[in-house]
Amino acid sequence: MKFKKDCIFCRIAAGEIPSDKVYEDERIVAFKDLNPQAPVHVLVVPKAHFATLAEMSGEDAELVKHALQTVPRIAASLGLANGYRLIVNQGEDAGQTVHHLHIHLLGGKPLGEKIV
Ligand code: 5GP
Ligand code: ZN
Repeated sequence: MKFKKDCIFCRIAAGEIPSDKVYEDERIVAFKDLNPQAPVHVLVVPKAHFATLAEMSGEDAELVKHALQTVPRIAASLGLANGYRLIVNQGEDAGQTVHHLHIHLLGGKPLGEKIV
């Protein structure tokens, strides 16, 4: 598995840095965002290191599929029956600050104005 030793999310996934985990399996982990932007704000993170989707190739797509297919279960476990929003920031223009691929899962209230 790709591991980058100076990457905070690699280290959280490996259990080297503590996090408030809400879900974990062999391939992904989901934990509460340190600076929540909604009542529920969780990051769904592949354990393997990819800075962005652009670093993924053919077989890696399976990991994205697995993460997305697991989101409804994570959302249900967090009580998000009324809906939620997923955001995946990619690169500078999107304001990505942690360069390890992650899906923001936000909910727990009406999320307000949409960009799209
Ligand atoms: P980005 O801006 O890259 O899409 O999102 C990075 C997110 O990671 C931010 O929402 C930030 O609050 C969160 N974050 C950064 N460092 C940590 C950390 O050490 N632990 C947790 N749980 N969240 C973090
Ligand atoms: Zn990483």
